[in-house]
Amino acid sequence: MRPHVTVNLAMSADGKISSIERRQVKISGKKDFDRVDDLKARSDAIMVGIGTVLADDPSLSVKSPERREQRLISGVEEHPVRIVVDSQARTPVSADILHKGNGKRIIAVSEKAPQSRVNELSHFAEIIVAGKDTVDLILLLPRLYESGVRTLMVEGGGTLIWSLFRDGLVDEFITYVGNMIIGGRNSPTPAEGDGFIDEGLFPRLRLESCEKMEEGVLIRWKSVE
Ligand code: NAP
Repeated sequence: MRPHVTVNLAMSADGKISSIERRQVKISGKKDFDRVDDLKARSDAIMVGIGTVLADDPSLSVKSPERREQRLISGVEEHPVRIVVDSQARTPVSADILHKGNGKRIIAVSEKAPQSRVNELSHFAEIIVAGKDTVDLILLLPRLYESGVRTLMVEGGGTLIWSLFRDGLVDEFITYVGNMIIGGRNSPTPAEGDGFIDEGLFPRLRLESCEKMEEGVLIRWKSVE
């Protein structure tokens, strides 16, 4: 058994999730920000790759005080469990994700992670070792399920999302498409990695909805079995 996985991200009209410098860019507006906060508040856990932690330093906390209050009333922590996929345990000990807001953190590392870094990070987060060289998501997700995570939101970046698609671990794919062109052949896209060569292997999606939101479009897809 594994958690239900919802990938959520924002991309430009030309399909880029950040600039050529891999710096965070503002793609969506207030309404989408609020939608994302709501999705976060309804998730048991939220996960990103180490690339996103190093580039954007997100806290992944629930921003709305009302939603945090609602979570407490329903008997869970104010914020979802925050998870970093980080083979080499490179998460900086000063990262916002380890400090902003209370609640559990998990850093998923591989067997290659230096023990000194693992020891340091274990003061701030539970460490799960899954995989030899990189984090094995097929091993990690059932471990998360065992620890009580039923709904997992993934915020990026493109490298982690690629692996989740490759491994058949995405249930829902939600993208906000904003009204700008970022350009750049090396600017990050929603699914990076090696890419599928054989058309027969392309994961197929079923369109659930498509709505105009502010100056862009919100598209919801579900994975086809
Ligand atoms: P990422 O996907 O956040 O993290 C990728 C890293 O995770 C890998 O390089 C690898 O580093 C580690 N990892 C460990 N096991 C893995 C596995 N099985 N599969 C995949 N990765 C694994 O990094 P990114 O692709 O560089 O994305 C960062 C960019 O995305 C930034 O520019 C950020 O601004 C952007 N972003 C945009 C949005 C949006 O909604 N627009 C959201 C999030 C991020 P190690 O080998 O060192 O572990």
